[in-house]
Amino acid sequence: MTQVFRAIKDLRGWVLGRKSQHRRIALVPTMGALHRGHLALVTEAQHQADDVIVSIFVNPLQFGPQEDLARYPRPFESDLQLLQQVGVAAVFAPSAEEMYPSGVSRTRVTVETMSDVLCGRTRPTHFEGVTTVVAKLFNIAEPDIACFGQKDWQQLAIVRQMAIDLNFPVEIVAVPTVREDTGLALSSRNQYLSAEEKMQAALLYQALMAARRLYDAGERSAAKIRAAAEALLHEADLTPEYVELVERDTLKESPDRLTGPSVLALAVRIGRARLIDNVMLG
Ligand code: AMP
Repeated sequence: MTQVFRAIKDLRGWVLGRKSQHRRIALVPTMGALHRGHLALVTEAQHQADDVIVSIFVNPLQFGPQEDLARYPRPFESDLQLLQQVGVAAVFAPSAEEMYPSGVSRTRVTVETMSDVLCGRTRPTHFEGVTTVVAKLFNIAEPDIACFGQKDWQQLAIVRQMAIDLNFPVEIVAVPTVREDTGLALSSRNQYLSAEEKMQAALLYQALMAARRLYDAGERSAAKIRAAAEALLHEADLTPEYVELVERDTLKESPDRLTGPSVLALAVRIGRARLIDNVMLG
């Protein structure tokens, strides 16, 4: 039986009970509108822990004023059904008032530098919103592990850094990106795309793969690898918000000649959706 909690104190009580039985607890933070990508996180969490809590919270703090907070999909009943089917122990679905009783959060958690690059350039308050809510969720659910998707590489790297810097006793587990057959990374925001736009969106992955092939063939010039991805996007009349090569863990811009493990990340607007994707190099 999947337990559903709306109140922080009720989830806390349940967690306390599980911990007294020495159960290992995993947290999977989501904004709902669940798809196979989210379920891959749940499966990994179930492998590594005894009880899995999935949080469903469309966090206002991580949306900019012009962003899609109001129209973000919230199909709670079907989400819950999915989670019941896969045997999740608990769902935490608080209201915005429960999470932010005074309407705002006067305390914010910021991971400096890493939050200002890549998506942070056009979404200046986004990652502060993410790290603040994830810190709250860690304090509320006290998980032993927490699973995050590699699709949002910047988020994963920032949350990892936060857990280290603030000594959260949580192991951060990374889960590979789940894709459609076309290569398109699953995302709740794919719902904003028409069938034609979805076909265009599959080019993001093809662009990343073109760059990866170059890397695999021995190319180490950051500019050339980036250009390979950009060329494919431009051919399709897509203007990326960014295509960048960064160091895997620090998110610092890669040197001209790649040495250590890097991530090629991009963001592209297609129709009403802003899509992101990335691949690991090395
Ligand atoms: P969201 O609901 O979009 O905030 O995502 C919740 C979690 O699911 C985050 O850790 C995401 O990185 C992860 N996630 C979203 N899409 C995918 C995907 N296609 N594959 C793997 N993980 C994903």
